[in-house]
Amino acid sequence: MQDIESVAQLTSWLVTGRILFLLIHLLGVALFSYIVAQRMVPFIRGERDFRFDQPWVRMGRVLKYWLGQWKQPRYRAAGIFHIFIFAGFLVLAIRAFSVLIVGVSENFIMPGLSGRAGYIYDIITDYAATIVFLCMVIAVVRRLVFKPARYAVPAGYGKSHTADAIFLLSLIALLMLADSLFAAVKAAAQSPQGQPVEVLAAFSLPWMFRHVLVSTPLSTLGRLCFGTYLVHELTFYFLLCYRPFGIQFHVETSVFNIYFAKLDREILKPVRWGVSDEHLDEVKSFGVKTFEDFTWKHMLDFYSCADCGRCSDNCPANAVGRPLSPRFITIKARDYSFEHYPVFGRVNKGTALVGSVYSQDEIWSCTTCGACEEECPLLVEYIDKIVDLRRGMVDEGNVPQCLQKPLKALENRGNPYGKVEKKRPDWASAKEFQQTCRVRTIDHSNGTGTLYFVDSITSYDDRMQSIGRATAKILNHVGENFGILGAAERDSGHEVRRFGEETLFMALRDHNVEAIKASGVRRIVTADPHAYNALKHDYKDVPPVEHISQVIAREVKAGKIKFNPVENTNNVYTYHDPCYLGRHNQIYDDPRDVLDAIPGLKRVEMRRSRDRSFCCGGGGLMLFYEPKEDQRMGVKRVQMAAEAGANVIVTACPFCMVNIEDAIKVAGLEGKMTAIDLAELVDRQIAREYPDAIEEQAAQPKECVMSSINSPK
Ligand code: SF4
Ligand code: SF4
Repeated sequence: MQDIESVAQLTSWLVTGRILFLLIHLLGVALFSYIVAQRMVPFIRGERDFRFDQPWVRMGRVLKYWLGQWKQPRYRAAGIFHIFIFAGFLVLAIRAFSVLIVGVSENFIMPGLSGRAGYIYDIITDYAATIVFLCMVIAVVRRLVFKPARYAVPAGYGKSHTADAIFLLSLIALLMLADSLFAAVKAAAQSPQGQPVEVLAAFSLPWMFRHVLVSTPLSTLGRLCFGTYLVHELTFYFLLCYRPFGIQFHVETSVFNIYFAKLDREILKPVRWGVSDEHLDEVKSFGVKTFEDFTWKHMLDFYSCADCGRCSDNCPANAVGRPLSPRFITIKARDYSFEHYPVFGRVNKGTALVGSVYSQDEIWSCTTCGACEEECPLLVEYIDKIVDLRRGMVDEGNVPQCLQKPLKALENRGNPYGKVEKKRPDWASAKEFQQTCRVRTIDHSNGTGTLYFVDSITSYDDRMQSIGRATAKILNHVGENFGILGAAERDSGHEVRRFGEETLFMALRDHNVEAIKASGVRRIVTADPHAYNALKHDYKDVPPVEHISQVIAREVKAGKIKFNPVENTNNVYTYHDPCYLGRHNQIYDDPRDVLDAIPGLKRVEMRRSRDRSFCCGGGGLMLFYEPKEDQRMGVKRVQMAAEAGANVIVTACPFCMVNIEDAIKVAGLEGKMTAIDLAELVDRQIAREYPDAIEEQAAQPKECVMSSINSPK
């Protein structure tokens, strides 16, 4: 390089290196395009997925979850830290491209960034580079010194990801240093020439570098300029091409992942997109057996995971030592994809996933609670994938021994206990109960407006029948003209579907839909969140459904329900959000409003509540399956209630009740802690002596018709 005597000559080094820089650009872009094209090969071989509807809604979600980083602050410190890095990257993206173009066209200025706008932008980017650099240093220290538990790779899940993460963080830091030094060199060269000095942001990295370089000879600055530019360019393209080989690929894919994310998370994915239920018998293979059985969107999920560990950190199965960590459902699939669809080399497809990549226990361990999906900042989906893997196992006859009996019973009797159908409405025929409340079985003639859908656990489980009776008494109290299907009701099939037995679910659903339609009811009420979720999201063409907590909250507001004060004011209550009421259906406030309306009731929140509620362990046929675990989920939940200072756990789900009552015994808290369903508590506290608003209806005798079985023909 010639000696440099002026600032104009300083930039002439760009001309000297133009061909080299142009070559680097072309090579970098070509290599990146090739790598990305190779990464997309599995998408073409994957299953269909319909994610092209509602573009404006999807754009709104991109603005919220990607640009607005909506979920990041759920982990406050790490989230804010990430927002800084993300914002820094966005700001620096334009500068990075400007700098790249300067290499081949030395006077290039990004359109719109000349004059005052350019000056302001330069100040912002100086700070952005500094902040991103500092964030990288902090991130490295955090990884090496503080070692957050959620980044750890447990035994059996492969080698630690720390070295790779530090390598990438260091490269980004190097890019920021090169960028800042490049800006500083140009500014430092201006002062000895008496030219107007480019203003650099005070205390930013470029500003500090310029102070160091201010008396450096122009010839040295020229070489430095060339060197920093080369380092910047090589680092930039190396990062660009290296990212698709690891977790940093999410930088490119996350915006697409969020755009194509599922809009209706509560609705389970169909067995095959584009194949209606009527044509399902034409589908040769159900569920996911090989990697190629995943949909292209699920494959995009695998590429988009940032390995932040938030999903596993919130997974109750992971917390109690079951062999499931959702993060590794993704990481293992991504590793499989990289290995079987290499960027350079031959595609090697078709290996069965369960038994090689995933264990059976891993897939059965999920309760479909949704905590992982709620937490993921990049909207990675899990439940659909796990259910699809289960569908694949069920299709191959890989059903755990302990689940075979309840499934057979569901097939033959419509309930997992194998009890006869005509005993389904027996919960309502208890003598004492009949004296206070009459429940009729709906038939074509009695014109009942509301169906109380009871479902199997409340119908047949002796303890849970009390929830059924409390629900009926509440409906009766508010003057609801309701009835039950009685023996015509079958299990809602909610758990069966999530277990992966789609055909059995369809049979149960079709039977219930027919019975509901035949009953002529205009609305449905249930006290079981699983039935609620099934009726609301898995069934079609049935009347609107409400959970009993919604009905109670409304009637409390309307003044139809008034409460007596609690007798024991020393009791401290806490509300446990059932997953299928809270996270899956966002019913958080109604049950709490009801509790807060009871005079004298003291309520505390558990550490994990609302959308961070901790699953009791009851979902997905788990009442019949004993997975390997160190501790029961219910026990952990009961301990959380005790930590919060509560001695009464209120829930609004019969499955939760089974698990929590059992856990109280296992945790040795019998006599110190109790559990009660919201409906039971409301029934206990209702002020029946002051039925102001329903005086008239209460005065009328209620019809008590436990009619014979009304199965749909
Ligand atoms: S749905 Fe719940 S149990 Fe299943 S992987 Fe996610 S957090 Fe874990
Ligand atoms: S799936 Fe989401 S929450 Fe889980 S590690 Fe990946 S990015 Fe984080």
